[in-house]
Amino acid sequence: MGCRQVFIRFGGCNLNCTYCDTDASAGARFCRVEQKPGLKNYRLVQNPLSPQEVASLANSFCLSRHHSVALTGGEPLLYPLFIRELAPLLKGARRGIFLETNGTLPRALLEVINLVDIIGVDFKLPGTTGLPPYWEEHRRFLEIAGQREVFVKAVVGEGTKNEEIETAASLINEVSPGTALVLQPVVLPGGIQGIGPARMLELQETALRKIKDVRLIPQTHKITGCL
Ligand code: SF4
Repeated sequence: MGCRQVFIRFGGCNLNCTYCDTDASAGARFCRVEQKPGLKNYRLVQNPLSPQEVASLANSFCLSRHHSVALTGGEPLLYPLFIRELAPLLKGARRGIFLETNGTLPRALLEVINLVDIIGVDFKLPGTTGLPPYWEEHRRFLEIAGQREVFVKAVVGEGTKNEEIETAASLINEVSPGTALVLQPVVLPGGIQGIGPARMLELQETALRKIKDVRLIPQTHKITGCL
C-alpha cells in the first residue's frame, strides 16, 4: 500500500460484478494516457495498441522510480498472448510486474506465470459480486500463483456472509499457507463505503480464526484522488 506504480488497464472482463467501477467493455476506440501523474490530463490514443506501443508509453514514466508496473483491468488474463509480448519490454521497475486479476482464468495464468513477479488474486464473493461462487477456479488459480509472490484480495460489503470469508480463509490455508488476505470495503455509487466498521472487523476476526495475516485496506487511490 502506498507504493508508486504505473497502471496499464486492459479493457474487457469475463465477469460482471455489481460493484465494478471500471468500464469493462472491450473494443473502445480510444484509450487514455495520463500526461502528468495525478493531474488526470489524459491524452486519447487510438486502439488497438501494440505491445510495443504500450511498453513505450509505460517506459516513458521512468520505471526505476516505481515499485512495479501493474497489469490490471478489466481482466488482463483475457490477453495472455499480448502479455507475453509486452512483459519482456517493461524493464526497470524495482519489483517488476504486478498482475492484478479476478483469479478465475488459471489456464491463462499458466501462460504468463514466468513473466510476472507479484500477483494480487481476487476471490469473488457472491454476497458482494452478485455472481455465483468461483471456488474451484480460485483454488486452481492459487495453486499456480503460489509460484510467485502472491496475496489474495476480497471485496466485502454488508451482504458478505461469514461462511464466504471462512471458505476463502480455508482455501488459502490448504493451498498457500501464509498468504495474506486483504479485505477491501466495497465502494457504492457516490463514493460511499458499503460496509460499516463493526461488520468489517467481524469479518476480519472470522478470517483470523483460520489464517494469520488478514488486513483491512480500502482503495487508497480513491482516497488520495489518484486515478
Ligand atoms: S472482475 Fe473486476 S473488472 Fe471484472 S467485472 Fe468484476 S470488478 Fe469489474
